[in-house]
Amino acid sequence: MRGLVNKLVSRSLSVAGQWQQQQLRRLNIHEYQGAELMSKYGINVPKGVAVSSLDEVKEAVKTTFPNQNEVVVKSQILAGGRGLGTFLNGFKGGVHIVKTDQVEDTAGKMLGQILVTKQTGPQGKVVSKVYLCERLSLVNEMYFAITLDRNTAGPLIIACSKGGTSIEDLAEKYPDMIIKVPIDVFKGITDEDAAKVVDGLAPKVADRTDSIEQVKKLYKLFCESDCTLLEINPLAETSSNQLVAADAKLNFDDNAAFRQKQKFSLRDPSQEDPREVAAAKADLNYIGLDGEIGCMVNGAGLAMATMDIIKLHGGTPANFLDVGGNASEGQVVEAFKILTSDEKVKAILVNIFGGIMKCDVIASGIVNAAKNVALKVPVVVRLEGTNVEQGKRILKESGMTLITAEDLDDAAEKAVKAASK
Ligand code: GDP
Ligand code: MN
Repeated sequence: MRGLVNKLVSRSLSVAGQWQQQQLRRLNIHEYQGAELMSKYGINVPKGVAVSSLDEVKEAVKTTFPNQNEVVVKSQILAGGRGLGTFLNGFKGGVHIVKTDQVEDTAGKMLGQILVTKQTGPQGKVVSKVYLCERLSLVNEMYFAITLDRNTAGPLIIACSKGGTSIEDLAEKYPDMIIKVPIDVFKGITDEDAAKVVDGLAPKVADRTDSIEQVKKLYKLFCESDCTLLEINPLAETSSNQLVAADAKLNFDDNAAFRQKQKFSLRDPSQEDPREVAAAKADLNYIGLDGEIGCMVNGAGLAMATMDIIKLHGGTPANFLDVGGNASEGQVVEAFKILTSDEKVKAILVNIFGGIMKCDVIASGIVNAAKNVALKVPVVVRLEGTNVEQGKRILKESGMTLITAEDLDDAAEKAVKAASK
């Protein structure tokens, strides 16, 4: 199960993703928004401006970079690996360093286009904004992240003396190069902690005292903003001996939305998995995956177990979905709609162990949803527990063609078989 959880959560994340086993729901913000937040905390970031049209590009080049030879043009999508990505229009690279008179041309090839990177999936993500940044002369690229660690039940700083676009490969090949410094969440970060991190980064030219201060500021931002992830890659050194956060990814804990209203107003649904956007609206615990079996299960543990057993029988789940203990019929209808609108789904497996959740509510939800959507794939149902007889009767009387299963194993086997037809 652990392996699957890891896979689930790290599917769109990089190195620090492996430490984020619990992070199912989060807010992700754009690079330019993160840079603005970091600069408020006194963290060094390149000077930059985000623009969404060619007119704005022209204006920004004139006003923000009047005396510069070169500008960095960066596609803004909520996924990493942009540097090595490719646009569906054939244009290579989501990050370009170009002469100032070429900025418009380059931005024109990015704006409104779809960028595919190893974190976006093959469908890619639309670039609605480009971030124009001052070109810094980087003498060294390092990796830095703060996340929440389950083992120490607190923040963990991860650092590596080598960073940039190939950190994932590096982390796999040379895991010893990555250092981890757990922070006592009650004490906060000490000078010793920060120094340990800086030693792990091993900057070549940056001032040590300044670097320690930068690490402490990053930790302060992480805590005060209710981050679940702050990942800077590269954390770079400039020829003027400074550390600079050249590219950062920031995620925030959804449970803190009530006290981080300004940040949560930055949510950009155009960058999210549309299935997850719909699920969030219906208040469902849903994570989209790439498999062919749509799952509707109650309880996170049973949902994980169901996904594992599907795998065991040679199938792959299209999603994680926990309809929860007291889902309404309306939520069940929404959940079923999300599953059936997913073109990759070749079979649906409903696995309900009724406790607080009643089987008849689930059954009514499925029947009502089936009235509204064209059901093109087989549905395997396993119901057990509270009001199971009523639930089974509702399904039977609906006239829907369903495949019934006796237990979890039987259900998974039947779903895998149905999906492969
Ligand atoms: P990512 O591919 O999505 O992680 O995008 P990044 O923003 O990290 O950009 C990719 C690479 O572009 C970085 O690793 C740097 O090597 C390079 N890069 C980004 N900004 C600058 C800059 O200001 N100066 C220089 N020399 N390189 C930069
Ligand atoms: Mn990067």
